[in-house]
Amino acid sequence: MRITVIGGGYVGLTTGVCFAHLGNEVMVVEKIPQKVELLKKGRSPIYEPGLEELLQENLREGRIHFTTDLREGLEFSHVIFICVGTPQKPDGSADLSQVEEVARETAKLMKSYKLLIEKSTVPVNTHKLIKRTVQRYLKDPNIPYDVASNPEFLREGSAIEDFLKPDRIVVGVESQRAKEIFEKLYKDFDCPIIYTDPATAELIKHASNSFLAMKISFINMVADLCEKTGADVKLVADGMGYDKRIGRAFLNAGIGYGGSCFPKDVKAFIRMAQDYGLNFGLLREVERINQERPAKFVEKLKKVLWSLKDKKIALWGLSFKPNTDDIREAPSIKVAELLIKENALLSLYDPKAMENFKLLFPEGKQINYAKDPYSAVEGASALLILTEWEEFVKADLGKVKELMELPIILDGRNIYEPQEVKALGFEYYPTGR
Ligand code: NAD
Repeated sequence: MRITVIGGGYVGLTTGVCFAHLGNEVMVVEKIPQKVELLKKGRSPIYEPGLEELLQENLREGRIHFTTDLREGLEFSHVIFICVGTPQKPDGSADLSQVEEVARETAKLMKSYKLLIEKSTVPVNTHKLIKRTVQRYLKDPNIPYDVASNPEFLREGSAIEDFLKPDRIVVGVESQRAKEIFEKLYKDFDCPIIYTDPATAELIKHASNSFLAMKISFINMVADLCEKTGADVKLVADGMGYDKRIGRAFLNAGIGYGGSCFPKDVKAFIRMAQDYGLNFGLLREVERINQERPAKFVEKLKKVLWSLKDKKIALWGLSFKPNTDDIREAPSIKVAELLIKENALLSLYDPKAMENFKLLFPEGKQINYAKDPYSAVEGASALLILTEWEEFVKADLGKVKELMELPIILDGRNIYEPQEVKALGFEYYPTGR
């Protein structure tokens, strides 16, 4: 099939490359010319494992194309995936201006049937606003079109695998014509495909992300209770997780969730409920618990070191999760801010996210970026683990101990076994264990 994808970010690029990999012909419309230039040369503007290789393969096969020109994208295909950003507004609601722009500009250029598919995460009933906008700006009001919701559930760091082998595909459609396009599009996918109305599909996405965030905040409160009582949160999570009604996933205690989705989607869901006259207090608590995590973590460090002034503190991990360079809403940002306020000297290392972090925290008197994890800990009074990169899991802790001024580790991701680390002579502070 021929497919057009609007927006070449984490979701759009993955969607485009994966559909091309499955034998479709894809045109990605991305408005930032520098990104398009890079992509045409087979270089990915973001780090996502396997993405660049797959991009190059499909460029060679001539199955994927890139443009900044929406008109070209619309002439290419009648199947249009909207993958633009839906960031957070100051009041917590979703900023839908990018989606509105796509709907408006598409309508102005439309000459024949189009299926407009929301892949971006949007509040329930956004499809109605898209339809109203398209209808307003169409040159000829009789041109047929459909608006559908097909939310994306991929996770950064495993985006390709998640896209190609999803747990389920959710499709919200209103017409048989649109449904048939999706049936053809997803015919080779071996997973449940749930057809609903668009409002239900939109809601499934926000409800799913909010539920996962709730699991994380729940286990983080349990972790705090474990620290007070001497129980072990990892074993508590295992013990809970064997119960099929609960499941073990997303019960890892730590410094909290971040990223471009959970924080903004939880906020948007709360706000959306409020707009319909409902108080989603449960999610306000989820948010509050999460927001407290970095401060609690730094408080713990202050208890251990007494004063942080002029002490070198090593930070391992800046991205919000492993295998990505994305630092949007990463807990590392809050931790760094708090440490700077305490006049600590930060020594930072991340395998992929340092360039992005430098844009927020340029190198300076209090901020130093290390070339590898070992130089980061040289002379440090404490090591803080903020992202569970495999490189840290496998690190030579004997060497780390030799290099540090004080052998102190605060583990915000519980990547080590306490007994093993303590046996090496470290003072080790895991989370909730
Ligand atoms: P992103 O910011 O990485 O990408 C959005 C891209 O769209 C940018 O490159 C931007 O330049 C481009 N763009 C904006 N307006 C455009 C226009 N008019 N024409 C062409 N290009 C345009 O965002 P993302 O992380 O890919 O997220 C996109 C959407 O998918 C969001 O709604 C997000 O909530 C949702 N989502 C994200 C993830 C994730 O893990 N990142 C997972 C599932 C869903």
